[in-house]
Amino acid sequence: MKERYRCWAEIDLSALRDNVKVVRDRIGAAELLAVVKANAYGHGLVDVAKALANDAQLFGVANLEEAIQLRAALPHPIMILGPALPEETSTIAERGFIPTISTFEEAEEFGRVARDGAIPINFKIDTGMGRMGVPEGDALSVFKKVSGLPNIKIHSISTHLPVSNEDAAYTRDQLQRFGKIVRQLRAAVPGDFKAHVLQSAGTLAFNDPPFDIVRAGIMLYGISPLPEFQKLLKPAMTWKTRIALVRDMPKGSSISYGRTFIAPRKMRIATLSAGYADGYPWHLSNRDAAVLVRGRRCALVGRVTMDLMMIDVSKIDNVKVGNEVVLMGSDGNEEISCAELAERASTIAWEIITRIGSRVPRVFV
Ligand SMILES: *Cc1c(COP(=O)(O)O)cnc(C)c1O
Repeated sequence: MKERYRCWAEIDLSALRDNVKVVRDRIGAAELLAVVKANAYGHGLVDVAKALANDAQLFGVANLEEAIQLRAALPHPIMILGPALPEETSTIAERGFIPTISTFEEAEEFGRVARDGAIPINFKIDTGMGRMGVPEGDALSVFKKVSGLPNIKIHSISTHLPVSNEDAAYTRDQLQRFGKIVRQLRAAVPGDFKAHVLQSAGTLAFNDPPFDIVRAGIMLYGISPLPEFQKLLKPAMTWKTRIALVRDMPKGSSISYGRTFIAPRKMRIATLSAGYADGYPWHLSNRDAAVLVRGRRCALVGRVTMDLMMIDVSKIDNVKVGNEVVLMGSDGNEEISCAELAERASTIAWEIITRIGSRVPRVFV
């Protein structure tokens, strides 16, 4: 079947299951909220969620649309991590998803639309992320008001870490502040609500205590936000394409738009059937990026184009049209890691995988 693909991503479901065990080992009795937003970080929402279903107690998505897609496949509780738009609140309440609340007004609105009983909410507190949540100084007073609203049941209280892979001292301080707020809210309002804060970097490096739920994302896919933990994880995705042409180019030939690469000698150049429309970053042009052909690194030459890109295969014997090429992943002893692509493209690993295009089939192995 995959013989027909030009550019595809192979997803190793057993790697996903191994990575989820790594999370489990680090979080004691805490629950795992598996973050599967953005098409499970580009890996395929429904298949990934099914592979994690026995190990995850709940799932996290970015928005209502993703929650609806996931609900069609699985019965687990689903938390919507982003803010709801006004048009979405009644559907969220009706379908029983767990919205994330940053203001009293949002909670009030959910209480109003949740006519048939209590809607569970995630009460978010801003302890430094500056993106969502009640500012920490107001958390106690807003929380008291929200928990008194009709039809509202507090599922959990949470915050988010902005520098858990960049500033350990700030992160430790933030976790202490959050712990203190959790104790205050629990003392002020009785209830069995849970607390959560750790994403992947937190789960790896700041997992004592793990609180009641962890929200693991990228590490499930086998990519560590902290290089020192990469060896614990197995990348689940191998991103592949095929050689579409092989041509012998004379010395002095120019390659691709801008003519930024001029062959310094006679070269054998392969044209690959993948480009930036498949999600391969244009910013990898002329950044010493490479791909793997039969387990050997071959340099990308010239600029990446929309549907095609060129590599130097002068040193590889017997290269043929149709041969498989690894854009990201391992082949033999060589690896092109997501971290390597991200670094060369001046971006982050999360962006590399979530931008892999919709015309790239995900093939589950
Ligand atoms: C995306 C997201 C996560 C997961 O982050 P990773 O770094 O991928 O583990 C956790 N919590 C929230 C609120 C998120 O938006």
